[in-house]
Amino acid sequence: MRTKLLLFSLTLLLGSCHSIDSTAPSHAVLVAQHTIEPEFAVLLASSGNSASWCWEKSGDTGFAELELSSNSYSWKLNDYNSHRKDSSIITLQPENTLTWHCLTTTHAKLVAGLAPPLPVLQIDSTEYTNLHHFLVEMTSPRYNSVVTHWVGEPIPVQVDNFVSGFINLSDALSHATNIWNEAFGYTVFEVNQFIPWGVRLIYTPGMQSPPLYIRGVRLDDSGHPMLMHIHAGDNYSNNHTNIWINRAMVHELAHAACLWGHSRDRNHILWENGPIVDTPSDDEIRAIRLWRAMPDGTSLLDYSLTDF
Ligand SMILES: [Zn+2]
Repeated sequence: MRTKLLLFSLTLLLGSCHSIDSTAPSHAVLVAQHTIEPEFAVLLASSGNSASWCWEKSGDTGFAELELSSNSYSWKLNDYNSHRKDSSIITLQPENTLTWHCLTTTHAKLVAGLAPPLPVLQIDSTEYTNLHHFLVEMTSPRYNSVVTHWVGEPIPVQVDNFVSGFINLSDALSHATNIWNEAFGYTVFEVNQFIPWGVRLIYTPGMQSPPLYIRGVRLDDSGHPMLMHIHAGDNYSNNHTNIWINRAMVHELAHAACLWGHSRDRNHILWENGPIVDTPSDDEIRAIRLWRAMPDGTSLLDYSLTDF
């Protein structure tokens, strides 16, 4: 019975992947193997190894195999004629769409390592389908959802020594830095006055609108963030505003970690109507971890937004 079931599912698979041009079968194989960050390898491994994929290009189809190791992944495209020079779109379709995102890419991206597999990762928020969906929305402003890493890590934060009335703005930013590092479990931001890149607090006397905001100031030649300024004025100055300035600083550091958008979820520090929580949510931590782990230059828009 078990064998029959296996044969049946194998037939279904064969049917779905079989080359349309059966008169000219090719047995060429394309293997694209790439090293990845250990954290990304762990994420991939948690979704299980999946041998059952199909590729499709210009009407041709074939089996694709995904192999994962502790520091690399490889795509193996069977019956794929890599001599055919073209810029056609390649679709990699997983058998299990609940586990993996469908991937739409090009030959060049496959070869360059800009088409890693992406597991469907859970999100607590009911406003988004999954973690990828959330990350796409948070990074479409400014980064067009293309993974863009800072020029170095940890990200230095220059807090200086600014006081507005009863509020020590610099202490608030230091506090926010600690909150992020505790949430991550490692040092992602580091208070450091003497490094010319990173995040810098800028204070201008007087009221400003919005009351606190971050601005990208400098990129390197490849478009990676080098310097961002957090601008503060005197909007938070009386002794009842401590809670609000602390939340606002944590919010701005989420932007500094490349989540440039605002969230529809009121439980997120990035909530579009202003933060009403003190710390980043697990969703935001997971999103930033994924962003940091994926290869620089990978487009999140290459992955299907839906589960089917
Ligand atoms: Zn904001």
